Amino acid sequence: MMSTFDLMEEKEHEEVVFFSDKKSGLRAIVAIHNTMLGPALGGCRMYPYTSTELALTDVLRLSRGMTYKAAVAGLNLGGGKSVIIADPKTSKNEILFRAFGRFVQGLGGRYITAEDVGTSVTDMEWVRMETKYVTGISRALGGSGDPSPVTALGTYRGMKACVEKVFGTQSLKGLRVAIQGLGHVGYYLVRHLHDEGAKLIVNDIDSERVKKVVNEFGAEYVDADKIYSVDADIFAPCAMGAIVNDQTIPQFKFKIIAGAANNQLADEAKHGKMLVDKKIVYAPDYVINSGGLINVYNELEGYNQEKALSQAKGIYEIVKIILDLAEKENIPTYVASNRIAEERMNNIGRIKQTYVRKSETVMRRLESF
Ligand code: NAD
Repeated sequence: MMSTFDLMEEKEHEEVVFFSDKKSGLRAIVAIHNTMLGPALGGCRMYPYTSTELALTDVLRLSRGMTYKAAVAGLNLGGGKSVIIADPKTSKNEILFRAFGRFVQGLGGRYITAEDVGTSVTDMEWVRMETKYVTGISRALGGSGDPSPVTALGTYRGMKACVEKVFGTQSLKGLRVAIQGLGHVGYYLVRHLHDEGAKLIVNDIDSERVKKVVNEFGAEYVDADKIYSVDADIFAPCAMGAIVNDQTIPQFKFKIIAGAANNQLADEAKHGKMLVDKKIVYAPDYVINSGGLINVYNELEGYNQEKALSQAKGIYEIVKIILDLAEKENIPTYVASNRIAEERMNNIGRIKQTYVRKSETVMRRLESF
């Protein structure tokens, strides 16, 4: 078993903090991966991890992902994440989240929290009673509210960049798009695609959501196991992760994969390469779905949805740069986006060091007078 320090050093995490509050039963871990570009922002996941090791592994992995997501989206944010070790169905209460909020406040802004799997806007409003370092608050309380329309717009724009690469036109008119998951993001995405004249093939395990989209937009429904093999140009996964895997890739007739779901590739290296071999253009998930992060980033600056939407539109340009680099270097697109993120962090790091050096020189000069 690796020690906590070994684990931190392996992927260069800056800081890991363990919080415990016996009265409320709170056990939480905050991982700050990198603050080169700004304060570490990332959601608080609540999950009944069966061991501290599993919780630690998860929070280290997720916080590092946030560093790359913020960097490639051009935001001045670092990467962080937190986990609360508890069952969200039975353990939620005001005392627990306020205790968590007090601890986050103690980090003095190096980490900013938000909702994530297992936590809700209500939970974050409890957290906010103790700290200002929290985002994803409701519109009524001056927050940014539901991020899904912004995420959907970013996904739609990223999809357009892929379409331009493959078909030489930005227009989605007449293209067939298979959408898996018609929830918060999927619904808004379908609306954009319908407005542009795309042909929609949809699936969701929730029949009410399917009914709504079929009635409203004339989408064609297919069974869950058929969505991977339909004759469509684009696949937009907007439900769960790991849907690009050994079983599904051989079924794909798609030319493009561009959707909002997190962690789409079951195995990044293996399945990223399989997509390249099949000549399927893949928009890296953490890039194309960064509208949600863009939305909460705007909350920090005083929320304005117009501004958040216009920034999310820029995902088109970012995806274009990634696809061009991947083509030029003959590398998978997720490798290209990681490179762009690292380059940005290194460049900004250099600028910051130059500032420090310059100010040190100025100080020395002043002292010599
Ligand atoms: P959601 O829970 O509102 O919607 C998910 C939908 O997927 C639901 O309608 C659900 O019934 C459906 N679903 C679940 N399992 C399915 C299955 N096996 N087959 C078909 N449909 C299934 O979630 P959301 O907010 O729309 O997010 C969708 C995805 O995008 C998630 O992976 C999420 O992590 C990711 N994401 C969302 C945002 C955001 O702003 N909401 C931002 C970044 C990433």
